[in-house]
Amino acid sequence: MTKRILILGSTGSIGVQALEVISETPGLEVAGLAAGANYRLLIEQAQRFGAAEVAIVDETAGSKVMSALPEATVRSGPGCIRGLVEETGCDIVLNAVVGAAGLEATVAALEHGRDLALANKESLVVAGGFVMQMAAEKGVRILPVDSEHSAIFQCLRGQPQPRRLYLTASGGPFFGKTADELASVTPEEALAHPRWEMGNKITVDSATLMNKGLEIIEAHHLFGVGYNEIEVIVHPQSVVHSLVEFADGSMLAQLGIPSMKLPIAYALNHPERLPVSQARLDLAALGRLTFFEPDLEAFPCLRLSMEAGRRGGGAPIALNAANEIAVASFLTGRIRFQAIAGIVEQTLTSLDGKLPSRIGSLEEIEEIDRQARLLAEALID
Ligand code: MG
Repeated sequence: MTKRILILGSTGSIGVQALEVISETPGLEVAGLAAGANYRLLIEQAQRFGAAEVAIVDETAGSKVMSALPEATVRSGPGCIRGLVEETGCDIVLNAVVGAAGLEATVAALEHGRDLALANKESLVVAGGFVMQMAAEKGVRILPVDSEHSAIFQCLRGQPQPRRLYLTASGGPFFGKTADELASVTPEEALAHPRWEMGNKITVDSATLMNKGLEIIEAHHLFGVGYNEIEVIVHPQSVVHSLVEFADGSMLAQLGIPSMKLPIAYALNHPERLPVSQARLDLAALGRLTFFEPDLEAFPCLRLSMEAGRRGGGAPIALNAANEIAVASFLTGRIRFQAIAGIVEQTLTSLDGKLPSRIGSLEEIEEIDRQARLLAEALID
């Protein structure tokens, strides 16, 4: 049986690796592709995989894609990804859009009853309650593509509800550095991740440990486990991708080389497990696996995200929005590394008392997101 995959964010790191997996896996086909602005790569991908349904958010790039792909249906401009999801027949939507902008695509996929391979963790961070409820109502499966959540998902197959989840963190490029040593780090240093090859936004999030914080919120929603039962453990080798602990104290872990192709292939082939062309994990060559407590003082973003997750309601939305603005400003040299946490904390403090404890609608999410972005921008200025 052929499975048709609609890839949203095809020109990003996850999208490119998903296309590698599809090209190596008989039975997987491209149903359609969506990108933000990289029209050159999008055109090349559509030609190579024969995609007839395409979307590009950037409108000037839209006309270039249309003339290069006269046979395809090309959508562009605001709402184009939603249109692509609504009008393209497919078995799985892979949502690899970056940031809170991915929520619209998640909602569209769920509304149309499409199984969702979810790499866009922000969908769950800002709207976890909504998304999980909608998935349950529509009978849609959410297949995690984040490596930690894929690991937990794999460990839980055929198992009862776990007592505890352990999310592993590589520690990023600044593992072991003190707050003082972090004062002068540059975007280039933050982007030099020792283990994982990823897009710029998530690589900076890995350096601040905000990524792990967002993953705690993601895990809380995906697996229905309380915040007190989710722990982060630093594991610099990135071989144990996460662990679960059951009532009897027994733990299960999933191990593999650090490659996003593994969780992508697992989600796309689920419930089957098919070959992936990849180096094998050589445990004897590796020698040992080490684990450490995270340093919450040097990496305050982890603490801030745990607090926002516990508060729930509007807090994770504001946290995520302020972080997206702060990371973009760090990458362009407007603020220093440690100011990322400062901007996020000040945004949350300024909104204290104004954030709802429960979210009533998607419009409410958009409004909180908008306010937090404006506030973070003003703080940066
Ligand atoms: Mg991850």
